[in-house]
Amino acid sequence: MKPLETMLNTQFNGTELNHFSDHEIGDDHLYTGIETPMKAGAFLLSDEEKKDKISLLFAEIMDVLGLDLTDDSLKGTPSRVAKMYVDEIFSGLNPVNKPKIALFDNKYKYNQMLVEKNITFYSNCEHHFVPIYGKVHIAYVSSGKVIGLSKLNRIVQYFAQRPQVQERLTNQIARDLVEILGTEDVAVIVDAKHLCVSSRGIKDESSATITCYYGGIFNNNEKIAELQNYLKS
Ligand SMILES: [Zn+2]
Repeated sequence: MKPLETMLNTQFNGTELNHFSDHEIGDDHLYTGIETPMKAGAFLLSDEEKKDKISLLFAEIMDVLGLDLTDDSLKGTPSRVAKMYVDEIFSGLNPVNKPKIALFDNKYKYNQMLVEKNITFYSNCEHHFVPIYGKVHIAYVSSGKVIGLSKLNRIVQYFAQRPQVQERLTNQIARDLVEILGTEDVAVIVDAKHLCVSSRGIKDESSATITCYYGGIFNNNEKIAELQNYLKS
């Protein structure tokens, strides 16, 4: 079997998109690779410098839209947005914010799948900067080590706190779990709503998007059926 990295990268090869212009791509959410596209020197500015700069730029956007920034209700918005971007909703762009994960020995010798379902997440679509939210379900089979359950939530939050596309979110969570847990036997299912689909554009409120990653023993119809069964109950 090919290593995970090669598998994910060949599965979603960015070069395929090259004959489309941004205009042709339009509202369709295309996925160009597992890595969040970051520029070189992404962390040369400190968080405080980033907040100052974003605050000025966001004030300009509001001003261009014609809003009165001297209004009591609006004057704090640019700095609130800047703080929210850097400290909260996009904090997962900075690797220093990656959760520290400690593993424990699998003392109970539990060797069946462990499923952590309905992990709530909030992210933002990188094409429109409006929310994507939903549930993540994770399953793994221990290779001898186990992870604290709340750490699974923290891993999900970390990758969600970036501008995202759902496919990448799914694969980034999966790749991290494979690495941390030292096993290919990992499954990740993301069931999400995209506000760029429901609140604007096509305005479809009922559709949901499901993406999944099945590695190792989860690449098997019986295991997938077993997992799906747990997710139903
Ligand atoms: Zn979008």
